[in-house]
Amino acid sequence: MYGAGDVRIETVPDAHLIESTDALVVVTRASICGSDLWPYNQMEPGETGQRMGHEFIGVVEAVGDDVRTVKPGDVVVAPFAWSDGTCVFCQAGLQTSCLHGGFWARDGIDGGQGEAVRVPQADGTLVVLPVGEDDALMPSLLTLSDVMGTGHHAALAAKVGAGKTVAVVGDGAVGLCGVIAARRLGSERIIILGRHPDRIALAKDFGATDVVSERGGEAVERVRELTDGFGAHSVLECVGHGQSTITALSVVRPGGAVGRVGLPQQEAIPTTLTTFFDNVTIGGGPAPARAYIEELLPDVLDGRIEPGRVFDRVGSLDEVPDGYRAMNERESIKFLVKF
Ligand SMILES: [Zn+2]
Repeated sequence: MYGAGDVRIETVPDAHLIESTDALVVVTRASICGSDLWPYNQMEPGETGQRMGHEFIGVVEAVGDDVRTVKPGDVVVAPFAWSDGTCVFCQAGLQTSCLHGGFWARDGIDGGQGEAVRVPQADGTLVVLPVGEDDALMPSLLTLSDVMGTGHHAALAAKVGAGKTVAVVGDGAVGLCGVIAARRLGSERIIILGRHPDRIALAKDFGATDVVSERGGEAVERVRELTDGFGAHSVLECVGHGQSTITALSVVRPGGAVGRVGLPQQEAIPTTLTTFFDNVTIGGGPAPARAYIEELLPDVLDGRIEPGRVFDRVGSLDEVPDGYRAMNERESIKFLVKF
């Protein structure tokens, strides 16, 4: 990406092993994330482009001498942050804060929207998938790199559970996966706040029971009407805009919790006094997707959850620039790159 709206496909030097803890992965599937649209809208134009992509599955081609858990030929999924798997934060299941980890497509690390990636800390980062490289479950497996783990993280931070009413703010891929996660964790009443007919239909398939298409104060009023005037026990904020954050914090009931996974686009958390007096828990952050892969994988393999349905467009690497455009114009929910 060279600037807002300017995505190019370029030939770069081949990825190769550098550290003894690296793996070289040939990418077979990748995707465009809603968070990739922030720079797509805001990045200052520059001479040197920035690598892109943090969601990918591939086949291991080579490993460094100290790699133990993956070997050439393995089909692997990478979470959106790489991590050693051994430090104090990794052991606590918070791999996004790994002391020796980092994120794709920055600081000289390859991006997932490319043909091959050098994976640092391969033992901690990669998870071997017990399927062939062209398995029909690939779209759902690919969501374990980010959006399904992120929806799950939002649900955990919002303390979703049986008997609780859940509100999901945002009908993008993460919001839709938040609906899946809320249902999976036992919620029977799930209110989706969104307005795109195709996304709402999918949300209902995933388990949403009520739809609020209003915005701002009207949306807040509508959620309160649906919840005896109290608001939802658990609110998943899956957008990050100032307005969506205010909405999320305004539809939570006293004693409830808000799980924030949308990248905040503003400095401060609004409604600080009302959420204080209502004893509202505000949690969340970047999901430690790595921590959730093993837990969610059996449900994907058994078909109990189908998060891959968020992909409504598939294309080649050359079609990625148009994929950005389509997602940005809300023509597409999520774009899958098939290599
Ligand atoms: Zn670590």
